[in-house]
Amino acid sequence: MIHEPDFNTSILVVDDEEGILEAYRNALTALSRANEELDDMVSRRRRRSPKQPAQTAAPRQGLSYQIFTASSGEEAVDIVRQELDAGRQIPVGFFDMAMPGGIDGPETIKQILKMDSQMLCAVVTAYTDRSPSQLGALFSRQDDWLYFNKPFSTGELEQTAYHLVTAWNQRRREESLISNLEMMSNGLLYILQTAQDVNRVPPMVLDNLLQGILSHFLRLAGAKDGFVFLPHGDKPVHFGQGTFDGIDSLSAGELRKRWGLAHEVMYKKSYAVVDGDTAVAPLRIGPEVLGVLFVQSDDPIKQDPKLFEIYASQAVNMIQQSRLYAEVNVRNAELSEKNQELVDLLGKLTQSENLKEQFEKLSYMDTLTAMPNRRYIETTFGEEVERGRRHGDFLACLLIDIDHFKQINDQYGHLAGDYVLQEIGKIFKSLKRPSDVIGRYGGEEFIMLYKGIQPKDIKMLCERLRKSIEQHKFQFEGKDIDVTASVGCAALTLAAGDTVQSIVQKADTALYQAKEEGRNRTVVL
Ligand code: GH3
Ligand code: MG
Ligand code: MG
Repeated sequence: MIHEPDFNTSILVVDDEEGILEAYRNALTALSRANEELDDMVSRRRRRSPKQPAQTAAPRQGLSYQIFTASSGEEAVDIVRQELDAGRQIPVGFFDMAMPGGIDGPETIKQILKMDSQMLCAVVTAYTDRSPSQLGALFSRQDDWLYFNKPFSTGELEQTAYHLVTAWNQRRREESLISNLEMMSNGLLYILQTAQDVNRVPPMVLDNLLQGILSHFLRLAGAKDGFVFLPHGDKPVHFGQGTFDGIDSLSAGELRKRWGLAHEVMYKKSYAVVDGDTAVAPLRIGPEVLGVLFVQSDDPIKQDPKLFEIYASQAVNMIQQSRLYAEVNVRNAELSEKNQELVDLLGKLTQSENLKEQFEKLSYMDTLTAMPNRRYIETTFGEEVERGRRHGDFLACLLIDIDHFKQINDQYGHLAGDYVLQEIGKIFKSLKRPSDVIGRYGGEEFIMLYKGIQPKDIKMLCERLRKSIEQHKFQFEGKDIDVTASVGCAALTLAAGDTVQSIVQKADTALYQAKEEGRNRTVVL
């Protein structure tokens, strides 16, 4: 129940004596007739329709009762059943205690309370065959009934009827208020929960949450259907039974014509308005009104507009969240595109990393002979010496220098000299084992490192290199060129203090000695 219930003034009187029923009728109707006359008089003064009932206003003493009379318990039970079937309650019953030939007062009350436990009962008797405490067992609450004796005075009856009817209506009003409060607090609780959920849910669920908010909005207004109107490009959202036809294509002008209040809230006021059977709340972000929440009820809406505003602001929150979500999705798509670009760029960088490596390799490479150059040899040699020192390795370092190379250049030309260098590079590469390090040390000088060989084999190895040059047939542009080389070798078991420089120096001394001794020979030191 959303609205305060109408004031209900029905009274049931049960007595087997027609005279008593007549007395009830006279007492209560005479009074109500007098009241009606008074009402008419007052309304004429206030210039309003005499028929208009002041149903929810607090009743003044003296009411217009609708009286149901029954001359037996059975008849009374039937009347209550028929009224209940028609959706009506009778708030108050006056029951005779003893009714010979049928069910008595207490039994009648028992059967009626089974159908409608809310009826307030007055037990009226001339006898004292049952004590009030015995009768009290019939009722769940002791203020559900009272007890008084026949014969009663008109005033006594009028007072009793007035108090019971007022009490019954007061109770319904309180129940209705409590249920309204419960509904509101449920709605607010729902809002609080959704406010927490909304940041974690995908748009489909947001739609559901929005529908949830709207259904609370409907219940608050006591309406069956409503819509969310968002005029700027967004489709309106129907909720409830959705009987608002054609709102999908509604323009501002049409909105004004058909739902003036919605238009007013949307374009003029930015606060919620309840007017008669219509409630409209703005969907507002700061001063901007995105649209309105709109409901129409069959009955006047009596809730505070502020409450509708709370629902509306939560609906806005959701709409915003869902837009944000969409924006985030677009941003995510953009970001993943950017990511791909970065991945591609990284790929290119890696490629250029390879280029760099190739570059580095080239810088370690002698381009004429395609052999490692001095820089590479010194780096590698340094590592070998370092490692060899720790293990006390035996090592041979050879310097091979072409004899009278200057003369070759002079006699056959510089290109012939280049040819000779390239040929020697090929020869040395063909003789090289994987563990040997070989390179062009500069000019017409080559270097070779032998690891893990026997000292006794060194001379032989040096000679093999020397002879490989001496015996090679160098031919450039049809001319034979005689080429020889001298070999200086430093052979040593590596020890602390040995360095690349000191070892090469020793090999150079040996080479110098070989040159001194006449060239085309090997000196091992
Ligand atoms: P020695 O027997 O004492 O070693 O005499 P040499 O003539 O071989 O020695 P020297 O150091 O007097 O001359 C070396 C020559 O090698 C000088 C230089 O022009 C030449 N040379 C150095 N590098 C290259 C090169 O890449 N190509 C050519 N064609 N000649 C080079
Ligand atoms: Mg030379
Ligand atoms: Mg030289």
